[in-house]
Amino acid sequence: MTDVILPGAAVGVLGSGQLGRMFAIAARRMGYRVHTYSPDTDTPTGQIADVEVVAEYDDLDRVREFARQVRVVTFEFENVPAATAAACAEVTLVRPGGAVLHTTQHRLREKTFLRESGFPVTPFAHVKSLEQLEAALARLGTPAVLKTAGWGYDGKGQVKIQSPGEAGAAWSKLETSEAVLEAWVPFEREVSVVAARGVDGSFAHFGLLANDHVNHILDITVGPAPVSTIIRDRAIEIARGVLEQLDVVGVLCVEFFLKPDGELVINELAPRPHNSGHLTFDACVTSQFEQQLRAICGLPLGSTEFLRPAAMANLLGDAWEHGEPDWAAACGFPDVKLHLYGKLSARPGRKMGHLTALAPTAEEARQLVLAARQALTKSHPIR
Ligand code: AMP
Repeated sequence: MTDVILPGAAVGVLGSGQLGRMFAIAARRMGYRVHTYSPDTDTPTGQIADVEVVAEYDDLDRVREFARQVRVVTFEFENVPAATAAACAEVTLVRPGGAVLHTTQHRLREKTFLRESGFPVTPFAHVKSLEQLEAALARLGTPAVLKTAGWGYDGKGQVKIQSPGEAGAAWSKLETSEAVLEAWVPFEREVSVVAARGVDGSFAHFGLLANDHVNHILDITVGPAPVSTIIRDRAIEIARGVLEQLDVVGVLCVEFFLKPDGELVINELAPRPHNSGHLTFDACVTSQFEQQLRAICGLPLGSTEFLRPAAMANLLGDAWEHGEPDWAAACGFPDVKLHLYGKLSARPGRKMGHLTALAPTAEEARQLVLAARQALTKSHPIR
């Protein structure tokens, strides 16, 4: 290994949200310095980082200046403009590389890559007009989901179409000139694989995680997922293939729909630590954030072994609706860990923190984390 970046070095993160924050916690724990870059100030990542650069992503001189101060740059959200990653790459290492970002930040490119590489993916069509949408609906059937081709996350930029008659309304609602129409997948459950690949091609994964969404936003993750080892192993092999094909150095999450007949189809990729992997922070020997650090620094990957089964519940801004949640009540559960992201204002749907419960079984962990979340707002239940 020629380019191992050792503790004491500075690492850079493009983006400043909670994923960067937990990465920064892992990195600082291991003695690295962390620089973060985003247009915002007093951010979840900036509160932990050594240096918080506040500048626009298209200010490429500032981007280069930021990149010159660090040995390697990574990102914590994939909507960083390609030009920003390219400017960093002129002066330092960028991991995962700009090509991974390019593919995964655009739904159409990502799905095309998956289909052309032979990975199982939801049937989809490229749509650039209402006429094309109507033709695609005739081919893929209804229900279907129309999604913007580019930027989008947590269900933003998507409309469900129940019948062909809704095409016109859906097309105007999306307000885009380029979209992807996806066939509706009648899934039994949603699962994900969070995996890492090192500079030397080594591969590690956190097994299969089971995810429940509410209003298109992740609500609960349980790990290990209660599914057969055959399905688990198949999902892991698909994830391994995706990381290899994309030549990822870092962490990447593959989100799947699991159909009642056991078939797995990829919903989407995230080339970074993922919300479904947050429970690894407390439940595994090495968290997804430390794994990201190890991978981008050229260190050996750490053990992904689960110390205990775990469940994670997201805390959205909705929990603040009637005032500050009762943190002491949640801390009254000794096997539940509280994570708050330091965001300055709580809005409905905004990810403010999460709880992780550890228990002898995944199902007990799920019950425990739900009880702890309920206790936060006992006087005014949120769900
Ligand atoms: P996305 O932002 O594309 O991951 O979508 C968010 C959530 O919407 C997914 O996790 C699913 O729960 C649901 N969803 C999106 N696309 C589909 C689909 N083609 N079939 C069924 N459910 C979907």
